[in-house]
Amino acid sequence: MKIGIIGTGYVGLPTGVGLAELGNDVVCIDREPQKIDVLKAGKITLYEDGLEELFHKNVKEGRLHFTTSMQEGVENADLVIIAVGTPPHPVTKEADMKYIHAAATELAVYLNGYTVVATKSTVPVGTGDDIEALIKKKNPFADFDVVSLPEFLREGFAVHDFFHPDRIVVGANTEKAKNVIRELYKPFEGQTQMLFVKRRSSETIKYASNAFLAIKIHYINEMANFCEKTGADIDEVSRGMGLDTRIGNRFLNAGPGYGGSCFPKDTMAMAFMARQNDVDMTLIDAAITGNTARKKEMAERILKAVKGIENPKIAVLGLAFKNGTDDCRESPAMDIIAELLENKANITAYDPKAMGTACYLLGDKIEYADSMYQVLQDADVLAILTEWDEFRKLDLEKATELMRHKNIIDCRNLLDGEKARSLGFNYKGIGK
Ligand code: NAD
Repeated sequence: MKIGIIGTGYVGLPTGVGLAELGNDVVCIDREPQKIDVLKAGKITLYEDGLEELFHKNVKEGRLHFTTSMQEGVENADLVIIAVGTPPHPVTKEADMKYIHAAATELAVYLNGYTVVATKSTVPVGTGDDIEALIKKKNPFADFDVVSLPEFLREGFAVHDFFHPDRIVVGANTEKAKNVIRELYKPFEGQTQMLFVKRRSSETIKYASNAFLAIKIHYINEMANFCEKTGADIDEVSRGMGLDTRIGNRFLNAGPGYGGSCFPKDTMAMAFMARQNDVDMTLIDAAITGNTARKKEMAERILKAVKGIENPKIAVLGLAFKNGTDDCRESPAMDIIAELLENKANITAYDPKAMGTACYLLGDKIEYADSMYQVLQDADVLAILTEWDEFRKLDLEKATELMRHKNIIDCRNLLDGEKARSLGFNYKGIGK
Protein backbone atom coordinates (compact mmCIF):
# COMPACT_ATOMS: atom_id res chain seq x y z
CA MET A 1 0.00 0.00 0.00
CA LYS A 2 1.20 3.55 -0.69
CA ILE A 3 0.99 5.60 2.48
CA GLY A 4 1.63 9.26 3.25
CA ILE A 5 2.14 10.19 6.91
CA ILE A 6 1.79 13.83 7.93
CA GLY A 7 3.94 14.62 10.97
CA THR A 8 7.16 12.81 11.86
CA GLY A 9 7.02 13.17 15.65
CA TYR A 10 6.78 10.55 18.39
CA VAL A 11 3.75 8.97 16.68
CA GLY A 12 4.37 9.67 12.99
CA LEU A 13 7.94 8.45 12.78
CA PRO A 14 7.56 5.06 14.55
CA THR A 15 4.31 4.52 12.62
CA GLY A 16 6.04 5.31 9.33
CA VAL A 17 8.96 3.02 10.10
CA GLY A 18 6.64 0.24 11.29
CA LEU A 19 4.39 0.44 8.22
CA ALA A 20 7.43 0.39 5.94
CA GLU A 21 8.72 -2.69 7.76
CA LEU A 22 5.37 -4.37 7.01
CA GLY A 23 6.14 -3.86 3.31
CA ASN A 24 4.29 -0.64 2.53
CA ASP A 25 5.72 2.22 0.53
CA VAL A 26 5.78 5.10 3.03
CA VAL A 27 6.40 8.81 2.57
CA CYS A 28 6.77 10.77 5.82
CA ILE A 29 5.93 14.45 5.50
CA ASP A 30 6.88 17.17 7.95
CA ARG A 31 6.65 20.91 7.67
CA GLU A 32 9.90 21.36 9.60
CA PRO A 33 12.70 21.31 7.01
CA GLN A 34 15.39 20.76 9.68
CA LYS A 35 13.70 17.52 10.77
CA ILE A 36 13.38 16.26 7.22
CA ASP A 37 17.00 17.20 6.44
CA VAL A 38 18.21 15.15 9.42
CA LEU A 39 16.04 12.17 8.45
CA LYS A 40 17.11 12.38 4.81
CA ALA A 41 20.71 12.43 5.98
CA GLY A 42 20.05 9.02 7.56
CA LYS A 43 19.82 10.17 11.17
CA ILE A 44 16.98 9.61 13.57
CA THR A 45 15.28 12.61 15.25
CA LEU A 46 14.01 10.99 18.44
CA TYR A 47 14.89 8.11 20.73
CA GLU A 48 12.75 4.97 20.78
CA ASP A 49 14.11 1.55 21.59
CA GLY A 50 14.74 -0.40 18.37
CA LEU A 51 13.64 2.40 16.05
CA GLU A 52 17.01 3.34 14.63
CA GLU A 53 17.82 -0.13 13.25
CA LEU A 54 14.42 -0.45 11.54
CA PHE A 55 14.70 3.10 10.21
CA HIS A 56 18.06 2.38 8.52
CA LYS A 57 16.85 -0.98 7.18
CA ASN A 58 13.74 0.44 5.54
CA VAL A 59 15.46 3.51 4.12
CA LYS A 60 18.10 1.21 2.63
CA GLU A 61 15.48 -1.10 1.16
CA GLY A 62 13.73 1.88 -0.44
CA ARG A 63 10.37 1.71 1.36
CA LEU A 64 10.77 4.78 3.60
CA HIS A 65 11.05 8.33 2.25
CA PHE A 66 11.01 11.81 3.76
CA THR A 67 9.81 15.10 2.35
CA THR A 68 8.51 18.54 3.24
CA SER A 69 6.25 18.42 0.18
CA MET A 70 2.61 17.58 0.87
CA GLN A 71 2.14 16.89 -2.84
CA GLU A 72 4.92 14.30 -2.93
CA GLY A 73 3.51 12.46 0.05
CA VAL A 74 -0.20 12.60 -0.81
CA GLU A 75 -0.76 12.45 -4.56
CA ASN A 76 0.02 8.75 -4.98
CA ALA A 77 -1.19 7.59 -1.58
CA ASP A 78 -3.98 5.07 -0.97
CA LEU A 79 -3.92 6.09 2.67
CA VAL A 80 -2.93 9.40 4.26
CA ILE A 81 -2.34 9.33 8.01
CA ILE A 82 -2.52 12.56 9.99
CA ALA A 83 -0.16 12.44 12.99
CA VAL A 84 0.36 16.11 13.80
CA GLY A 85 0.26 17.56 17.30
CA THR A 86 -2.93 18.56 19.15
CA PRO A 87 -1.42 20.55 22.05
CA PRO A 88 -3.55 22.26 24.67
CA HIS A 89 -4.84 25.65 23.64
CA PRO A 90 -2.90 28.21 25.69
CA VAL A 91 -6.07 29.80 27.10
CA THR A 92 -8.96 27.31 27.09
CA LYS A 93 -6.82 24.12 27.42
CA GLU A 94 -9.03 22.38 24.84
CA ALA A 95 -7.15 20.52 22.09
CA ASP A 96 -5.75 23.13 19.74
CA MET A 97 -6.82 22.05 16.28
CA LYS A 98 -4.74 24.45 14.21
CA TYR A 99 -2.26 21.79 13.02
CA ILE A 100 -5.04 19.33 12.17
CA HIS A 101 -7.00 21.92 10.23
CA ALA A 102 -3.87 23.09 8.40
CA ALA A 103 -2.92 19.51 7.48
CA ALA A 104 -6.44 18.70 6.23
CA THR A 105 -6.57 21.86 4.14
CA GLU A 106 -3.07 21.37 2.73
CA LEU A 107 -3.58 17.71 1.79
CA ALA A 108 -7.01 18.20 0.18
CA VAL A 109 -5.84 19.52 -3.19
CA TYR A 110 -3.45 16.62 -3.77
CA LEU A 111 -5.92 13.77 -3.23
CA ASN A 112 -5.90 11.68 -6.36
CA GLY A 113 -8.17 8.64 -6.78
CA TYR A 114 -9.94 7.03 -3.83
CA THR A 115 -7.97 7.79 -0.64
CA VAL A 116 -8.58 7.08 3.02
CA VAL A 117 -7.57 9.95 5.30
CA ALA A 118 -6.97 8.52 8.78
CA THR A 119 -6.45 10.54 11.94
CA LYS A 120 -3.90 9.08 14.36
CA SER A 121 -3.63 12.35 16.25
CA THR A 122 -5.75 12.46 19.40
CA VAL A 123 -8.67 14.65 18.38
CA PRO A 124 -11.93 15.83 19.97
CA VAL A 125 -15.14 14.07 19.12
CA GLY A 126 -16.52 15.37 15.83
CA THR A 127 -13.10 16.15 14.30
CA GLY A 128 -13.63 13.55 11.56
CA ASP A 129 -16.67 15.53 10.43
CA ASP A 130 -14.64 18.76 10.44
CA ILE A 131 -11.82 17.23 8.40
CA GLU A 132 -14.34 15.86 5.92
CA ALA A 133 -15.93 19.30 5.53
CA LEU A 134 -12.56 21.05 5.16
CA ILE A 135 -11.43 18.65 2.43
CA LYS A 136 -14.76 18.87 0.57
CA LYS A 137 -14.63 22.66 0.67
CA LYS A 138 -11.10 22.75 -0.73
CA ASN A 139 -11.55 19.93 -3.24
CA PRO A 140 -15.27 19.24 -3.95
CA PHE A 141 -14.47 16.39 -6.38
CA ALA A 142 -12.12 14.44 -4.12
CA ASP A 143 -12.99 10.75 -3.64
CA PHE A 144 -12.14 10.02 0.00
CA ASP A 145 -13.25 8.79 3.41
CA VAL A 146 -12.11 10.07 6.78
CA VAL A 147 -11.34 7.43 9.38
CA SER A 148 -10.44 7.73 13.07
CA LEU A 149 -7.49 5.48 13.91
CA PRO A 150 -6.47 6.41 17.44
CA GLU A 151 -2.93 5.63 18.48
CA PHE A 152 -2.35 3.74 21.72
CA LEU A 153 1.42 3.33 21.60
CA ARG A 154 3.38 3.95 24.76
CA GLU A 155 6.36 6.23 24.36
CA GLY A 156 9.49 4.28 25.13
CA PHE A 157 7.84 1.13 23.73
CA ALA A 158 6.60 2.56 20.44
CA VAL A 159 8.26 -0.05 18.22
CA HIS A 160 7.17 -2.94 20.42
CA ASP A 161 3.63 -1.58 20.60
CA PHE A 162 3.46 -1.04 16.85
CA PHE A 163 4.18 -4.71 16.18
CA HIS A 164 2.20 -6.04 19.16
CA PRO A 165 -0.89 -3.84 19.51
CA ASP A 166 -3.30 -5.07 22.17
CA ARG A 167 -6.17 -3.63 20.15
CA ILE A 168 -6.76 -1.66 16.98
CA VAL A 169 -9.69 0.72 17.11
CA VAL A 170 -11.13 1.92 13.83
CA GLY A 171 -13.81 4.56 13.52
CA ALA A 172 -15.04 4.27 9.96
CA ASN A 173 -18.40 5.13 8.49
CA THR A 174 -18.07 3.30 5.14
CA GLU A 175 -17.34 -0.31 4.16
CA LYS A 176 -14.83 0.83 1.53
CA ALA A 177 -12.73 2.64 4.16
CA LYS A 178 -12.99 -0.30 6.56
CA ASN A 179 -11.56 -2.58 3.86
CA VAL A 180 -8.52 -0.34 3.36
CA ILE A 181 -7.81 -0.42 7.10
CA ARG A 182 -8.39 -4.22 7.21
CA GLU A 183 -5.81 -4.58 4.46
CA LEU A 184 -3.38 -2.31 6.29
CA TYR A 185 -3.51 -4.39 9.45
CA LYS A 186 -3.71 -7.79 7.74
CA PRO A 187 -0.27 -8.77 9.11
CA PHE A 188 -1.76 -8.58 12.64
CA GLU A 189 -4.78 -10.75 11.82
CA GLY A 190 -5.37 -13.35 14.52
CA GLN A 191 -2.82 -11.65 16.78
CA THR A 192 -4.88 -8.70 17.94
CA GLN A 193 -8.44 -7.54 18.31
CA MET A 194 -9.69 -5.10 15.70
CA LEU A 195 -12.69 -3.10 16.81
CA PHE A 196 -14.78 -1.27 14.23
CA VAL A 197 -16.92 1.47 15.74
CA LYS A 198 -18.59 4.73 14.80
CA ARG A 199 -16.08 7.49 14.07
CA ARG A 200 -17.29 9.54 17.04
CA SER A 201 -16.98 6.53 19.36
CA SER A 202 -13.43 5.95 18.18
CA GLU A 203 -12.47 9.56 18.86
CA THR A 204 -14.00 9.27 22.33
CA ILE A 205 -12.31 5.93 23.14
CA LYS A 206 -8.89 7.56 23.01
CA TYR A 207 -9.77 10.36 25.46
CA ALA A 208 -11.79 8.07 27.70
CA SER A 209 -8.82 5.66 27.94
CA ASN A 210 -6.21 8.30 28.69
CA ALA A 211 -8.40 10.05 31.24
CA PHE A 212 -9.07 6.71 32.95
CA LEU A 213 -5.34 5.91 33.20
CA ALA A 214 -4.57 9.40 34.51
CA ILE A 215 -7.25 8.95 37.18
CA LYS A 216 -5.77 5.54 38.08
CA ILE A 217 -2.34 7.12 38.61
CA HIS A 218 -3.81 9.94 40.64
CA TYR A 219 -5.74 7.43 42.73
CA ILE A 220 -2.64 5.42 43.64
CA ASN A 221 -0.79 8.65 44.46
CA GLU A 222 -3.55 9.63 46.87
CA MET A 223 -3.39 6.13 48.33
CA ALA A 224 0.38 6.63 48.77
CA ASN A 225 -0.31 9.75 50.83
CA PHE A 226 -2.65 7.66 52.96
CA CYS A 227 0.03 4.99 53.44
CA GLU A 228 2.53 7.61 54.57
CA LYS A 229 0.17 8.67 57.34
CA THR A 230 -0.85 5.18 58.44
CA GLY A 231 2.29 3.03 58.29
CA ALA A 232 1.18 0.98 55.30
CA ASP A 233 3.52 0.50 52.31
CA ILE A 234 2.18 1.61 48.92
CA ASP A 235 4.26 -0.93 46.99
CA GLU A 236 2.65 -3.74 48.97
CA VAL A 237 -0.78 -2.17 48.64
CA SER A 238 -0.34 -1.79 44.84
CA ARG A 239 0.79 -5.39 44.54
CA GLY A 240 -2.21 -6.59 46.49
CA MET A 241 -4.61 -4.49 44.47
CA GLY A 242 -3.02 -5.41 41.15
CA LEU A 243 -3.58 -9.12 41.69
CA ASP A 244 -7.29 -8.43 41.37
CA THR A 245 -7.89 -8.99 37.65
CA ARG A 246 -10.71 -6.45 37.73
CA ILE A 247 -8.15 -3.80 38.69
CA GLY A 248 -4.95 -5.02 37.00
CA ASN A 249 -1.42 -4.17 38.10
CA ARG A 250 -0.53 -1.51 35.54
CA PHE A 251 -0.55 2.22 36.24
CA LEU A 252 -0.48 1.47 39.93
CA ASN A 253 3.03 2.75 40.65
CA ALA A 254 2.89 5.71 43.00
CA GLY A 255 5.18 8.54 41.93
CA PRO A 256 5.60 12.25 41.34
CA GLY A 257 2.44 12.57 39.24
CA TYR A 258 1.55 11.74 35.65
CA GLY A 259 3.13 13.66 32.81
CA GLY A 260 4.13 13.39 29.17
CA SER A 261 2.70 14.74 26.00
CA CYS A 262 -0.64 12.91 26.37
CA PHE A 263 -2.21 12.56 29.84
CA PRO A 264 -2.01 16.20 30.95
CA LYS A 265 -3.32 17.59 27.68
CA ASP A 266 -5.87 14.84 27.07
CA THR A 267 -7.40 15.13 30.55
CA MET A 268 -7.71 18.89 30.09
CA ALA A 269 -9.22 18.44 26.63
CA MET A 270 -11.68 15.83 27.95
CA ALA A 271 -12.68 18.14 30.82
CA PHE A 272 -13.24 20.94 28.29
CA MET A 273 -15.41 18.71 26.08
CA ALA A 274 -17.41 17.65 29.15
CA ARG A 275 -18.07 21.28 30.10
CA GLN A 276 -19.00 22.10 26.52
CA ASN A 277 -21.58 19.30 26.60
CA ASP A 278 -22.86 20.11 30.10
CA VAL A 279 -21.62 16.84 31.56
CA ASP A 280 -20.12 16.68 35.06
CA MET A 281 -16.76 14.90 35.07
CA THR A 282 -15.63 15.58 38.60
CA LEU A 283 -13.21 12.64 38.66
CA ILE A 284 -11.19 14.07 35.79
CA ASP A 285 -11.24 17.54 37.33
CA ALA A 286 -9.97 16.11 40.62
CA ALA A 287 -7.15 14.24 38.86
CA ILE A 288 -6.05 17.40 37.01
CA THR A 289 -6.00 19.55 40.16
CA GLY A 290 -4.47 16.83 42.33
CA ASN A 291 -1.75 16.03 39.81
CA THR A 292 -0.65 19.67 39.60
CA ALA A 293 -0.53 19.89 43.39
CA ARG A 294 1.45 16.65 43.60
CA LYS A 295 4.42 17.97 41.61
CA LYS A 296 4.54 21.06 43.81
CA GLU A 297 4.43 18.80 46.85
CA MET A 298 7.38 16.73 45.53
CA ALA A 299 9.42 19.94 45.14
CA GLU A 300 8.53 20.87 48.73
CA ARG A 301 9.81 17.51 49.95
CA ILE A 302 13.12 18.08 48.18
CA LEU A 303 13.47 21.61 49.57
CA LYS A 304 12.57 20.42 53.06
CA ALA A 305 15.43 17.91 52.97
CA VAL A 306 17.98 20.73 52.48
CA LYS A 307 16.36 23.27 54.78
CA GLY A 308 19.02 25.08 56.76
CA ILE A 309 21.83 24.23 54.32
CA GLU A 310 23.32 27.33 52.75
CA ASN A 311 23.13 27.42 48.94
CA PRO A 312 22.27 23.72 48.71
CA LYS A 313 23.13 21.67 45.66
CA ILE A 314 20.28 19.49 44.39
CA ALA A 315 21.18 16.43 42.33
CA VAL A 316 18.41 15.29 39.98
CA LEU A 317 18.35 11.85 38.41
CA GLY A 318 15.82 11.65 35.59
CA LEU A 319 14.40 14.33 33.31
CA ALA A 320 12.28 12.39 30.80
CA PHE A 321 8.62 11.99 31.73
CA LYS A 322 9.18 8.25 31.98
CA ASN A 323 11.84 5.67 31.23
CA GLY A 324 12.57 4.53 27.69
CA THR A 325 12.09 7.93 26.06
CA ASP A 326 13.92 11.22 25.60
CA ASP A 327 10.61 13.11 25.71
CA CYS A 328 10.50 15.79 28.42
CA ARG A 329 7.20 17.38 27.41
CA GLU A 330 5.10 17.91 30.55
CA SER A 331 7.56 15.73 32.43
CA PRO A 332 6.94 15.83 36.20
CA ALA A 333 10.71 16.40 36.44
CA MET A 334 10.36 19.63 34.45
CA ASP A 335 7.57 20.95 36.71
CA ILE A 336 9.42 19.95 39.86
CA ILE A 337 12.62 21.61 38.57
CA ALA A 338 10.64 24.76 37.68
CA GLU A 339 9.32 24.87 41.24
CA LEU A 340 12.81 24.34 42.66
CA LEU A 341 14.20 27.09 40.41
CA GLU A 342 11.57 29.48 41.71
CA ASN A 343 13.09 28.81 45.09
CA LYS A 344 16.52 29.71 43.67
CA ALA A 345 17.79 26.15 43.85
CA ASN A 346 21.14 25.15 42.44
CA ILE A 347 20.46 22.03 40.34
CA THR A 348 22.62 19.51 38.50
CA ALA A 349 20.85 16.79 36.53
CA TYR A 350 21.48 13.60 34.61
CA ASP A 351 19.25 11.48 32.39
CA PRO A 352 20.45 8.53 30.27
CA LYS A 353 18.56 9.63 27.14
CA ALA A 354 16.94 13.01 27.64
CA MET A 355 19.85 15.40 28.13
CA GLY A 356 19.36 16.96 24.67
CA THR A 357 15.60 17.46 24.94
CA ALA A 358 15.90 18.72 28.54
CA CYS A 359 18.64 21.16 27.58
CA TYR A 360 16.37 22.47 24.81
CA LEU A 361 13.71 23.24 27.46
CA LEU A 362 15.86 24.31 30.41
CA GLY A 363 18.93 25.81 28.74
CA ASP A 364 21.49 27.05 31.25
CA LYS A 365 19.00 27.28 34.13
CA ILE A 366 20.52 24.07 35.52
CA GLU A 367 23.82 22.24 35.16
CA TYR A 368 24.16 18.90 33.41
CA ALA A 369 26.26 15.91 34.44
CA ASP A 370 27.67 13.10 32.31
CA SER A 371 26.79 10.25 34.63
CA MET A 372 24.66 9.38 37.62
CA TYR A 373 27.72 9.53 39.84
CA GLN A 374 28.97 12.87 38.54
CA VAL A 375 25.61 14.36 39.45
CA LEU A 376 26.14 13.32 43.09
CA GLN A 377 29.42 15.18 43.54
CA ASP A 378 29.02 17.50 46.55
CA ALA A 379 25.22 17.23 46.39
CA ASP A 380 23.13 17.98 49.46
CA VAL A 381 20.12 16.00 48.30
CA LEU A 382 19.46 13.47 45.57
CA ALA A 383 16.02 13.59 43.92
CA ILE A 384 15.08 10.63 41.72
CA LEU A 385 12.40 11.74 39.27
CA THR A 386 12.32 9.18 36.41
CA GLU A 387 12.15 5.39 36.75
CA TRP A 388 15.19 4.46 34.62
CA ASP A 389 16.45 0.94 35.46
CA GLU A 390 20.00 2.28 35.53
CA PHE A 391 19.15 4.27 38.67
CA ARG A 392 18.03 1.14 40.52
CA LYS A 393 21.64 -0.01 40.39
CA LEU A 394 22.98 3.14 42.06
CA ASP A 395 25.85 2.16 44.37
CA LEU A 396 24.74 3.71 47.65
CA GLU A 397 28.14 3.22 49.28
CA LYS A 398 29.75 5.22 46.48
CA ALA A 399 27.01 7.82 46.90
CA THR A 400 27.95 8.32 50.56
CA GLU A 401 31.48 9.22 49.48
CA LEU A 402 30.36 11.66 46.79
CA MET A 403 27.54 13.56 48.47
CA ARG A 404 28.03 16.42 50.92
CA HIS A 405 24.83 15.64 52.82
CA LYS A 406 23.12 12.25 52.79
CA ASN A 407 19.56 13.07 51.71
CA ILE A 408 17.54 11.12 49.17
CA ILE A 409 14.03 11.89 47.96
CA ASP A 410 13.16 8.88 45.84
CA CYS A 411 10.01 9.88 43.97
CA ARG A 412 9.97 6.54 42.10
CA ASN A 413 10.76 4.10 44.93
CA LEU A 414 13.73 2.76 42.97
CA LEU A 415 16.25 2.37 45.76
CA ASP A 416 16.42 0.05 48.72
CA GLY A 417 15.24 2.39 51.48
CA GLU A 418 16.39 0.16 54.32
CA LYS A 419 19.89 -0.11 52.93
CA ALA A 420 20.02 3.65 52.36
CA ARG A 421 18.98 4.30 55.96
CA SER A 422 21.51 1.78 57.26
CA LEU A 423 24.21 3.80 55.45
CA GLY A 424 23.08 6.94 57.24
CA PHE A 425 20.91 8.43 54.52
CA ASN A 426 17.85 10.45 55.34
CA TYR A 427 15.85 8.48 52.76
CA LYS A 428 12.27 9.27 51.81
CA GLY A 429 10.41 7.18 49.27
CA ILE A 430 6.79 7.48 48.21
CA GLY A 431 3.94 6.01 50.22
CA LYS A 432 6.11 4.37 52.85
P1 NAD B 1 4.97 15.71 17.81
O1 NAD B 1 4.86 17.13 18.20
O2 NAD B 1 6.11 14.89 18.29
O3 NAD B 1 4.97 15.60 16.23
C1 NAD B 1 4.08 16.31 15.40
C2 NAD B 1 4.81 16.60 14.09
O4 NAD B 1 3.87 17.11 13.15
C3 NAD B 1 5.89 17.67 14.20
O5 NAD B 1 7.11 17.16 13.69
C4 NAD B 1 5.39 18.82 13.34
O6 NAD B 1 6.41 19.54 12.70
C5 NAD B 1 4.51 18.09 12.36
N1 NAD B 1 3.47 18.91 11.70
C6 NAD B 1 2.57 19.74 12.28
N2 NAD B 1 1.77 20.26 11.34
C7 NAD B 1 2.15 19.77 10.14
C8 NAD B 1 1.70 19.93 8.80
N3 NAD B 1 0.67 20.71 8.50
N4 NAD B 1 2.35 19.28 7.83
C9 NAD B 1 3.39 18.47 8.11
N5 NAD B 1 3.85 18.27 9.36
C10 NAD B 1 3.24 18.91 10.37
O7 NAD B 1 3.59 15.04 18.25
P2 NAD B 1 3.36 13.51 18.70
O8 NAD B 1 3.81 13.28 20.10
O9 NAD B 1 3.85 12.61 17.63
O10 NAD B 1 1.76 13.48 18.74
C11 NAD B 1 0.99 13.57 17.56
C12 NAD B 1 -0.44 13.25 17.90
O11 NAD B 1 -0.56 11.89 18.35
C13 NAD B 1 -1.02 14.10 19.03
O12 NAD B 1 -2.38 14.36 18.75
C14 NAD B 1 -0.90 13.21 20.24
O13 NAD B 1 -1.86 13.51 21.22
C15 NAD B 1 -1.17 11.85 19.64
N6 NAD B 1 -0.57 10.74 20.38
C16 NAD B 1 0.69 10.84 20.87
C17 NAD B 1 1.25 9.77 21.56
C18 NAD B 1 2.65 9.86 22.11
O14 NAD B 1 3.03 8.92 22.81
N7 NAD B 1 3.40 10.90 21.84
C19 NAD B 1 0.52 8.58 21.74
C20 NAD B 1 -0.75 8.51 21.20
C21 NAD B 1 -1.28 9.59 20.52
